[in-house]
Amino acid sequence: MAITRRNVLAGAAVAGGLPLATYNLCLPAWAGADDDVIPGPPVKDQPIQKLSAHVYMVEAPDGFPTPENQGLMSNIIFIVGRDGVIVIDTGASLQIAQMSIRQLRTVTKGPVTGIVNTHYHGDHWLGNHGFVEAYGKDIPIYAMAGTRKAIEGGTGTSWRDAMLKWTNQASAGTRIVPPGKDIDHGFTLPLGDATLRFHHYGTAHTPFDIAVEVPEDGVMCVGDIMMDRRIANMEDGSYQGTLDAIDKLIAASKTSVWVPAHGDAGVKVLDWQRSLFAGIYEACTRAVKQGIPLEGALAEAMKDPRVSGKAQETKGWASNIGKYVSIAYLEAEQAQF
Ligand SMILES: [Zn+2]
Repeated sequence: MAITRRNVLAGAAVAGGLPLATYNLCLPAWAGADDDVIPGPPVKDQPIQKLSAHVYMVEAPDGFPTPENQGLMSNIIFIVGRDGVIVIDTGASLQIAQMSIRQLRTVTKGPVTGIVNTHYHGDHWLGNHGFVEAYGKDIPIYAMAGTRKAIEGGTGTSWRDAMLKWTNQASAGTRIVPPGKDIDHGFTLPLGDATLRFHHYGTAHTPFDIAVEVPEDGVMCVGDIMMDRRIANMEDGSYQGTLDAIDKLIAASKTSVWVPAHGDAGVKVLDWQRSLFAGIYEACTRAVKQGIPLEGALAEAMKDPRVSGKAQETKGWASNIGKYVSIAYLEAEQAQF
C-alpha cells in the first residue's frame, strides 16, 4: 500500500514538469540522431570560487532548471591537485560543462583527468559529455555501479529528455555519457598533494550516493546527501538513511567545509540539513504513532521550528514541501510495521 502511494507521488512529480517546447518543430527534417541536433546556446559565465587549498566550485544560483538558467541548478566542483584535476558532478548539459571548463581555465592550465558522478540524477552527470569532448573519451568517469546502471538505462534518457523540456531545448546537443569506472566505499584517488577518499553509507538521497572527501583540506563533497536552503528530490531516498549517512560522514572524517551540490558550501550546511530532516522525520514518526493521516503530516511538521523556520529562505519551499513531507510520512509508516 505504502509503496503504491509512493509511486503515485513519484509519478506526479515527473508529470509536473514544464510544458513541452515547440522549438523542436523548427529543426530540419534530418534532425533526430544526437550528432545532428542543433546545439543549444552557450551558458552565461558563473565565477569560480576557491573553497580551500585544492577545491574550487562553480555555483548554481538557482534551485530548479528553467529556460532562463538553461539548466544550471547544481554546483560543479573541481579538485585541483599536483597530479591532476578531478571534477565532481558535471552539471546538467554540454553547455553547462563547457561554461565550467572556461571557469576552471582561469585557475589552472592542467587538464581534467577524471570525473566523479555522485549519483544518477541528471543535473549531476549530463555534463559528462562536455568534459569528454574537451579532454578525451578515455578520461575515467567514476561512480557507483548502481549509478552507472541507472544512467545506462531508462533513467539516463528520461533525465536527458526532461532537461530538454525544462530548459526549452537549451540543453540540446547533450549526449548521454555514462560512467565507466565502478567505485565503492573506501576507494581512494591520489592527486599528489591532495587525496580523494570516497564514502558510501547506504541509501541516503538515492541508493547509490558517493561522497568525496579531500582530507588535506577538511572538505567533504556530499553530492545531494546534504543541501543548503534547497528541497531535495527524495523519491528514491531515505530520511533515516540520510540522517545515518550524515552521522557516519562526521565520524569518519575531520570535515570543516561541507560542499553540497545545491547551495553554498561551508560549515553551516551540516546543521541546516540535519535539523530539517530530523524535524520532518520526527514529526512524521509522531504523526504515524498518533494515527494522524498523511494529509495532516505537513501541519505536524510545520509545528517544529527546525522545519517552519526554514520556509522563508528555501528555494521552491511552497511548491515542494508537501510532497517532501509525504515521502517522509510514508517512510515513517513503513518503519512502524
Ligand atoms: Zn539529486
